This record gives sequence, structure tokens and C-alpha cells, in this order.
Amino acid sequence: MILEKIKKKKYDIQDIVTLLKAEGEYLKLIYNEADKLRQSIFGDDIYLRGIIEFSNYCTINCDYCGIRCENTKVSRYRISDDEILKTCKLMQGYGQTTVVLQSGEDPFYTKEKLGALIERIKKETSLAVTLSTGERSREEYRYLKERGMDRYLLRFETSNIDLFARFHPDSDYEKRIESLNNLKQLNIQTGSGFLIGLPGETYEELAGDMLFCTELDLDMIGAGPFISNPETPLNGQENPFDKEVYFKVIAILRLLNPRAHIPSTTAFDAVDPMGRNKLLQRGANVFMPNATPQKYRADYMLYPGKPCVDESGDDCARCIVARLKMLGRNIGQGPGHSIR
Ligand code: SF4
Repeated sequence: MILEKIKKKKYDIQDIVTLLKAEGEYLKLIYNEADKLRQSIFGDDIYLRGIIEFSNYCTINCDYCGIRCENTKVSRYRISDDEILKTCKLMQGYGQTTVVLQSGEDPFYTKEKLGALIERIKKETSLAVTLSTGERSREEYRYLKERGMDRYLLRFETSNIDLFARFHPDSDYEKRIESLNNLKQLNIQTGSGFLIGLPGETYEELAGDMLFCTELDLDMIGAGPFISNPETPLNGQENPFDKEVYFKVIAILRLLNPRAHIPSTTAFDAVDPMGRNKLLQRGANVFMPNATPQKYRADYMLYPGKPCVDESGDDCARCIVARLKMLGRNIGQGPGHSIR
């Protein structure tokens, strides 16, 4: 009944809460429907978007984040442009068609520095370039697009203003949403998303985040579970939802947003060794292998138990090929731009 309402776009927040609480045969049906919908739109192709965590400097202090600026236990690093380029070329050889350049909010990377890096990547490889470097001005986004940036990722983390204020002492909710709107108005393919299960979050608030993604009409939607990091003020705080809810969120997001790219994010492997594989069978169509050179990985621990820290880019590239083979999927060819 609710699944029919979703197809007709006539659902409300309580319907989403009901789906988030589904169990047994009904839950199996939700997962099957999400997988069928993913297959009908994207076929068996899974796009590989390697992430290079190129700087762990950050000037701000999100309460849940392991690289927040007040965490003095982190050794800070920036990866040189030459090393980023070398990594991009390796990624291309592994069949990855997009590089995602991710960092904290690091003012060292001016728009000019990032622009020059993007231009080099576009000149020396065929990779699409996605940036995830935090809130920037509209003018910076416009400049980066002109230099060749294809996409930008900026999570809103929670659409509840009170929760946002509680966990983001240095950020402003309105400014975050304005940044997302700027990206969309500039016709930059925009990805966003949220944390599943910030301490104290209710089912209604979680459902609100999911509906907000649909309202934003995003090209890419990413969500991952909150995992308490002992090096943050949220040490010891628990995720209010059980593990299955995390998986339900992704499946329901697929039902709500048939044509959005939805990645199977790393944090799911931290809560279940087969987590990312399961997501690829429950609506996700994108895989984001860690491409960061191995020597930097231990210093980009956003949450404890982050997978792939001891592996190299080569290990991660082989692993994803094996995963896709096991699931009977193909590596998506071409840049995998938005199909909305
Ligand atoms: S979530 Fe991002 S902006 Fe917030 S502290 Fe971590 S790296 Fe910085």
C-alpha cells in the first residue's frame, strides 16, 4: 500500500516512518523493490568513484568527526598535486571513471589552487572530477566549474535545525542550505545527504532527512550511519537506531529517488563486513573505493573501525572487482553523470 503511494508520489512522513520500522516479509519486499528499481534504471552497471582524501586539515569542529580541528591526536597532511595526479592515473587503470577529491574545510586550498589541480586532472586523464571540500562561496563554485569541475558533494548532515546547531558549533544551517542551492543554480551536479542516527534523533527526524533529499532533487544522495568516535565530544554516545534501519534508509531512498545516483558508502562495511555488498543489492548503484595512498589513510579516521585503512589503492581496486563479480555486476563505463 505505501509502496503504491510512493510510486504515485502521494506519501507523507508517517509512511516513511512506517517503512523504516518494517520487518520480516514486508522488509524483504522493500529491499526487492529497491533492487528491481535500481536494475530497471541503471542495469547491472556500478559506477566506481575513487576517493582521494587529499587533506585532513580542517578549521571547524563538527562534534562527530574524527578530523575536527580540536582533535590534536591527528597528524595533519596535504597530498601534493603530483601525488594526486599519480593516484588518478592508477585509478583510471583500474576502471574508475571519477575521482572524488575530499578534504576538511582547508583554506590552504584556495579556488585558484583547486582550479589548477582540476585542470591538470582533466588534461592528463579522462576522469570526471567531483569535489567535496566543504562550504564555499557561490563565486568559488562558479570558478571551479569553469576550471572543469563536474560535480560537488556537500552533505547537509541533518535537516533538523536544532540537531544541526547542536552538533555543528561552527556552522550555520541556513548557510549550508544556501551553498547547496548555489550549486544547483549553477547547474553543477550536486550530491548531498545525511548521517543516520545522530544521538537523540527520532524516526520522524530521520524520515524528514530522507524527504528533504527528495525535495532538493539531488543528482547524488549519500547517507551513512553515525558511529561514535572516542576522540570527539560524542565519545560513547549511541546511535538510536538498530543496524537494519541503516540499510532500510538506502532502500527507501532508492524508492523515493529512482534516478539519483546512490553510493554504497564505506561506513556500512564498518557496521557489517558485507555491508557495502548488501547495499548494492538494496538500491545503491555507485561504489566509492578508497584511493587515498595508504600512508595517509590512518590519519583520515572520521569514525573508528573505518575499513580499508591498512589496504593500498591497488588492494581496494582488486577488492571491488571481486565484489562486483560475486554480485554479477559490471563496472559502469564512462563518467556516470547524472541521469535526472
Ligand atoms: S565533518 Fe568535515 S567540516 Fe566537519 S570537522 Fe569533519 S572534516 Fe571538518
